[in-house]
Amino acid sequence: MVLSVFKSGDELFNQGVDLVKRKEYVKARKNFEKTIEKGGREAALARVYVDLIDACLDNNNPARYSKLAATLASMNDGFVFGLTEIDPVRLALECSLLAERIETARRQVNGPAQIEEKGNKMLDIARKYQSQIGNDTIMISEIVGIQVNTGIKEALYIQAIGYENLASAAVMTDPKRAAELLQNSYACRKQLGEDGQNAMNLIKAYSKSVKCWICGRPATGEGVHFLTIASDISPFMRKSDDDILQSAPADYGSVYMCKPCYSAISKRADDIARAYHERAMQEMRAMEARLQAEIRSMAATIAIRR
Ligand SMILES: [Zn+2]
Repeated sequence: MVLSVFKSGDELFNQGVDLVKRKEYVKARKNFEKTIEKGGREAALARVYVDLIDACLDNNNPARYSKLAATLASMNDGFVFGLTEIDPVRLALECSLLAERIETARRQVNGPAQIEEKGNKMLDIARKYQSQIGNDTIMISEIVGIQVNTGIKEALYIQAIGYENLASAAVMTDPKRAAELLQNSYACRKQLGEDGQNAMNLIKAYSKSVKCWICGRPATGEGVHFLTIASDISPFMRKSDDDILQSAPADYGSVYMCKPCYSAISKRADDIARAYHERAMQEMRAMEARLQAEIRSMAATIAIRR
């Protein structure tokens, strides 16, 4: 047996290729690195293999896919990785899209303008999957071991999330528009075979219109622009044909309150509760001081008697 230190770059490369077939990626990676060091004939291919292995071993990291896309862009000919035939141009495209998708999904957003931007970016990526990958299966997912979809299916997932982002950006100013955007998300989720229940619940909530029991103003968007508050509409109060009562929940066990009325009442209630709390704490501290003084004087008395 020949010691590995004496192996040529080409031998190391061939051994690496076998290791990849057995999915022994960490060992294979070492071989390819040595191939690059020794400048074997397959050094360029070894570089792609290293980046492919890095993506397999760290398949949640968008930077791995960006790097792989750049390395693949320098390749002219197809090659085999494990048992998979690779078309470098196509795989580079898939890697760029995947990196873009993960980065956008992770984007931290603050406020409706940024959420809207994120939603539009998701729709933009979805369109690329639709037009550039289409009905083909996404190869990179298979290679790195993440969920395998066709371009169309991937596009539907991304579109659903995109519309959900747009809806959450719109709901503060236009709940009806938010409900419309969620209809699109619901349609995508149904096409994916999901029940779409979350989207449907939000559509119902955002398109619901009521009148505030306190001020009588109309409000649309349950949970956002009005809330349901436990109450008791007494039998006497039920005998009325006014439109606020008509709009109230049918079980008479609660009323609708618009957000301004609700927040005014709850803020005032918080202030009152805080004042009570502070007064109670002051009294407790005063009582504690009195007790401490009594303990000290008793201790002094005992000391004198000894
Ligand atoms: Zn109100």
